[in-house]
Formats: sequence, structure tokens, C-alpha cells
Amino acid sequence: MPTNPNPRAVSESDPGAPLLTRAFPAPSHAHRTPFQRDRERIVQARAFRRLAGKTQVFTSRASDHFRSRLTHTMEVAQIARHVACALDLNEDLAEALALVHDIGHPPFGHAGERALDRCLQRHGLRFDHNIHALRIVEHFEQRYAAHRGLNLTLGVREGIIKHSRDYSATTHPELAIYFLDQAPPLEAQIIDLADEIAYLTADLDDGVESGLLQIAHVRQHVRILSRCFDSVERIHPTVDEKYLFHEALQLMQNILTDDLIANTRANLAASSLDSLEAIRQHRTRVATFSPEVESERLQEKKYLYDVLYTCPELEVEHDKAEEVVTALFNYWMDNPNELPDGYVEEIETEGMARVVADYIAGMTDAYILLQYAVVKRCPRLIRA
Ligand code: MG
Repeated sequence: MPTNPNPRAVSESDPGAPLLTRAFPAPSHAHRTPFQRDRERIVQARAFRRLAGKTQVFTSRASDHFRSRLTHTMEVAQIARHVACALDLNEDLAEALALVHDIGHPPFGHAGERALDRCLQRHGLRFDHNIHALRIVEHFEQRYAAHRGLNLTLGVREGIIKHSRDYSATTHPELAIYFLDQAPPLEAQIIDLADEIAYLTADLDDGVESGLLQIAHVRQHVRILSRCFDSVERIHPTVDEKYLFHEALQLMQNILTDDLIANTRANLAASSLDSLEAIRQHRTRVATFSPEVESERLQEKKYLYDVLYTCPELEVEHDKAEEVVTALFNYWMDNPNELPDGYVEEIETEGMARVVADYIAGMTDAYILLQYAVVKRCPRLIRA
């Protein structure tokens, strides 16, 4: 029996709805909805394939088992789709947004992003991975005869910009078409939290795999993991701790996901937000964890920051990322004729610093290290 569509979800029933519009005309498809088409355009983009070669937290040089940005993205996509389904939202939009959410990240994880931002600040600019993601899907991807970019719907482009933070039209007038005075739809609101669920689970897993975290220490200091561990240990009292740890991680991911679903449902039930329009006009985000789980989330996040992300072993990698990104940025600023032709053409409109940052941001870890090795052979070309 057909059910009534959820009025709080982004609908694809009216082909002329603003969120379904594209910058360039594209005839509708007989068998695929607009957001299904966007999902496929994202998966077939070069920048999406390069996520396989980009660091999430640990470089793949150290182990084949660590998450890359691509496998992290897939984990976020499955959580987002699950949450969207449970809340009766538009699953295809949520999945497309999850698949594209990290496409703007440079090599070497957050260390690479910080280094690139520092380089740009010396030229009065900033690096922001959401804005860079928009530049990728609107400009850098070239797959169509009639236009540059992937020609994604306005709904997906808005979600790229707004899923994790709010931008002001005063500081970012170029983003004014993305309804900056409105909250994003629920499909975009859940992406940032699906991202949190994915990495809070994965970083404990990869942290133990790397040897930088010890199961006993995690159990002692991470409240949410501790209660999950106690619970699985009661069921399997004689099983080795490494298997209990994996069971506990799975339970933790389920608790976080189920809490997000239940609490968002409760927020909606307690409110008068009965339409997409009402959610967009609401000042604060509706998709949230419960206060208890939110406090556990923040406690784990602090643990990961203090014990893992800033540990001496990873700081060595961060310093190396800073060195490589900064040296290459300076090199191409001093030798713009060494940039690929397509980038040289952009200098007139975008300015040299932005073009050099765009070039570096697109690289995988392996490619940027190769470039660094080549450039280092010509020390006269690098600033002292
Ligand atoms: Mg992410």
C-alpha cells in the first residue's frame, strides 16, 4: 500500500522544485531520480577515486588495514543511508551527500589541510575543504561536452556547503545562492553526525591496529566504549579481548546510530516542525544526539585528540606533511611555469596562490610525495 510522503523530507516528485534544479539544463531520466543521478556522477568523478589514496588518520604506507578517505566515505554513506531510511528521509540525497562530503580534502588528512591553509593565509586567503569540494564539482571535474563540472542539483551543492557548518553571506557572498539564512534539510544535517559516528568508531579501531592505542587504556578512559565492552564481556566472558573489542566497537556504533535516530525523532515529535520549510526556518539543527550520548561523544573526542591525534608518533607525520606541502607550495609559487597547462590558464582569473593550492589539494599522498622527491632533486629551485 502506498504511504504518504514524509513532508519533512526533500521530495523529488516535482521536477521543477528549486533543490532539483541544475546550473545547466539536463533532461530528466526515465529510470533514475535526480539525486540518484548525482550519486552516480559523484562516484564516477576522478576526485572521488582519488580518495582511495588520501590519508584519513593513518597513512596506508604503515598498514594495509587502515581506513583511507574512500573507505571512511563508504562507512559514512552506509550510516547516513540507514539513518535516512529510519527517519523516512530522502535516502538517495543523504547517500549522495555522504559520498561527496570529504571530496575536498587535500592529501595527508587534517595536517595537509592545516599546512595548505597556513600557506594561503600568507596571501590573504584561506583553505576550506567544503568550499574546495564545491569548486571540484562545479569546475575541476570535466566529463561533459556542454559544461565544466558535474552539474549537480542545487540540493546536493547546498548540502556540500552546509552539512558541517554555517557560512555567513557577509563573509561568503559567493555562496549566497545556498539559502545561507536557512538551516539545511535533515538529509544534510545527518551527514555531519554520520561522519562523527564513523570516525569515532574507526579511529579507535585503527588506533589499536597501529599500536598507538592499547585496548585496556581505551576501555579504562573512553566511557561509551567501556560500557559497550562490559556488556559484550558479560555475554562472552572467556573470549580474547581483541574480539571483545571489535564486538564493543560494533555495539558502540549501533548505540550512536540508534541514539541519533531516536533523539531526532523525539526532537521532531516535541516540535511543530511538520514540513521541510519549517525545518529550514528553524534556527537550530534538529538532528542531534541525546544529551547523555552527546556527552559521551565529546568525552571520546577529547580522548582521541589528547591520546591519539596529537601523540608524538603522529606529530612526526604531521610535521612531514607540513614540510612537503609548504615546500611544494613555495616551489610552484616561484616556478608557475612548472604547473600543468590547465592550471597555468587559471592563474589570470583565480590568482597564483589559489591555483597552486587547488593543484596541491587534488593530489593523493603518493602523488605529492613523488612530486616532492622530484623537486628535491633540484634544490636550487626550492627556497632556503
Ligand atoms: Mg569525513
